[in-house]
Amino acid sequence: MGIFEKLSLNKHEFVTFGWKDEVKAIIAIHSTKLGPACGGIRMWNYPSEDEAIQDALRLSLAMTLKNAAAGLNLGGGKCVVIGDPYKDKTEELLLALGDFVQSLGGTYISAEDIGITPEDLAVISRRTKYVVGLPEHLGGMGDCSPYTAFGVFLSIKTALEFLYNSSSLQGKTIAIQGLGKVGLNLAKLVLKEGAKVIGSDISDEKNEVARGLGVEIVPPEEILFLPCDVLSPCARGGIINERTIPKLNCRIICGGANNQLEKDEDVIELEKRGILYIPDFIANAGGIISLSVEIEGNFTKEKAEERVKGIEERVRELLRLHKEKGISTLSAGLQMAYERLKED
Ligand code: NAD
Repeated sequence: MGIFEKLSLNKHEFVTFGWKDEVKAIIAIHSTKLGPACGGIRMWNYPSEDEAIQDALRLSLAMTLKNAAAGLNLGGGKCVVIGDPYKDKTEELLLALGDFVQSLGGTYISAEDIGITPEDLAVISRRTKYVVGLPEHLGGMGDCSPYTAFGVFLSIKTALEFLYNSSSLQGKTIAIQGLGKVGLNLAKLVLKEGAKVIGSDISDEKNEVARGLGVEIVPPEEILFLPCDVLSPCARGGIINERTIPKLNCRIICGGANNQLEKDEDVIELEKRGILYIPDFIANAGGIISLSVEIEGNFTKEKAEERVKGIEERVRELLRLHKEKGISTLSAGLQMAYERLKED
């Protein structure tokens, strides 16, 4: 498929390519209908330029849906950088990225994502003012993943309430794939409420930290298929697909990872298996919601936490639509997002 065909498929506004010496970056703007497009910068060792473009398109669309459904006046965009963040991330690269973001004059507001830290954003901010999630010593809110984890936690409780008329986590088993920033913060929250937590990461170091908190660790190839009440994907996308669905052993899927379903139709197969899926773009909006407080100025943790709590009501609304209209949870989530975008 050619690039213009790819853009027209989900009505992306535009995609732009930036390069300088060895830096290769792509900014995809899906929509600016509700405000400037806001989304993180992802640095990843993409096997091909085509896969990088595909990821930028998918992730920017997901940001439009997330921002719209969360009630934010922000559009959807994403920047991807082709390179290994452990080897290729230099000050020059970050400054070039800052110039690239600045060149769009505020159409795109950047933030952190996989491979980019708040400290990297501080370097990027030397060249552009269109960056949020800066370290606290620079007046930003710092790491937004605790807010993402808090939103996922509230979504899990609301899903439990829908199924069992009780949001209690006592005696429930939560399986978490990926014990990074979001997964670990989520583990802490659910452990505190009496859940049993089983987790897995491909990093031994992350597994050890989680084990120290009381998380039972299993090998990465087992985590998706364990008997549990809630499976929480907090690593990468695409893990719910026709190969994994037949082997799942959970009642609810609710996690922090973006684009968990390989394709939209997978939600139908999940429903056939009696698994309730809470769309990622509804459950994992806590980070962007807290960033929206920073964008407005005068960030406080209390204000951000209060706004993230709104996720609870949105998951309730999603489940009400799902039940009353007999539509999938994904369709209900999309309906909530497109209602704000006023598209057919
Ligand atoms: P992170 O890099 O801190 O953590 C991800 C963890 O997943 C890493 O520890 C990694 O080793 C692990 N991992 C990768 N593949 C794995 C596998 N196959 N099995 C088990 N573990 C594996 O990233 P994060 O900030 O915690 O984000 C997690 C996910 O949530 C990402 O998909 C991200 O895009 C999404 N997300 C994050 C935020 C946020 O605020 N950080 C907001 C919205 C969405």
